[in-house]
Amino acid sequence: MPEQIHWPDVSVYVAGHNGLVGSAIVRALEEAGVGRIIGWRSSELDLRDRDAAMTAITEAKPDIVIDAAARVGGIMANSTYPVEFLKDNVLIQTNVMDAAHACDVDRLLFLGSSCIYPRHATQPIRESSLMTGPLEPTNQAYAMAKISGIYYIEAHREEYGRHWISAMPTNLYGPKDNFDLETSHVLPAFIRRFHEAKVSGAPTVTVWGTGAPRREFLHVDDLAQAALTLLQTYDSPETINVGWGDDLPIKELAETVADVVGFEGDIAWDTSKPDGMPRKLLDTTRINALGWKPSITLRDGLASTYAWYVENAA
Ligand code: GDP
Repeated sequence: MPEQIHWPDVSVYVAGHNGLVGSAIVRALEEAGVGRIIGWRSSELDLRDRDAAMTAITEAKPDIVIDAAARVGGIMANSTYPVEFLKDNVLIQTNVMDAAHACDVDRLLFLGSSCIYPRHATQPIRESSLMTGPLEPTNQAYAMAKISGIYYIEAHREEYGRHWISAMPTNLYGPKDNFDLETSHVLPAFIRRFHEAKVSGAPTVTVWGTGAPRREFLHVDDLAQAALTLLQTYDSPETINVGWGDDLPIKELAETVADVVGFEGDIAWDTSKPDGMPRKLLDTTRINALGWKPSITLRDGLASTYAWYVENAA
């Protein structure tokens, strides 16, 4: 392990600092008393633009980099725009890491997603399942980009001796999520659909697929604590899972969100829409052994995220 990070003494560049994940990491860093946070909104710096990214990041010369920048989206966005999901993510992560290398950043955390694992991986999914079988087709483009990011981290460790690490969180949610129904993930989509139906008095809400797939949900504030823990305690080329530890069928998620929102009508299932991966529950034995455990229950996290939505996005 390299030396302990004393947060007040360091500057941290959080790529994607204004997004769902990045903004949670900024909150956690501020709570830890970080010396300085560096970040640009995508309107200020397009991380796909190599020259702009290299110049801005090397001039800022951070001590530590956390890469939470990505083009993200739910099952429909991901499967409809594979070109953009592959290209943008490879460009963003390559530019961020190349800039970090150019200004000699020795500590970097790259964040990916549980969709990197094979569609038929043994559940709960252990880190060693990576690259052992074909991917889930509906998010293959995003997964391919993130897998190449994991390998790019490993390559920098091997070739340049960097203390860079990668972590793969499960499905995340919380304030600042994307509530656009075409491109969002399931949890924010449910919050919006049930809220709008409650407000308009609609008798039925139609959602996608069969409701049978199982998913695991982690609040971003738990993930942010995991990110800080990993930077302090983890130094290995192998990627590490960050999850809640339990999952539920999408049908049960729908009923829970309807209950939290206060929608009392019916739920219909549009089975012409894809189900995606049947299950993707992460095995979190390794991160739990480092002393990190999540604390925000789905029920509490849903209630606070719904309150945020009503206040800021509805
Ligand atoms: P995934 O975890 O990569 O499959 O991405 P999503 O979060 O987009 O979808 C998870 C599951 O929720 C899939 O089985 C979807 O078919 C289902 N689902 C049901 N209704 C919706 C919806 O309104 N939006 C989204 N994004 N997914 C939905």
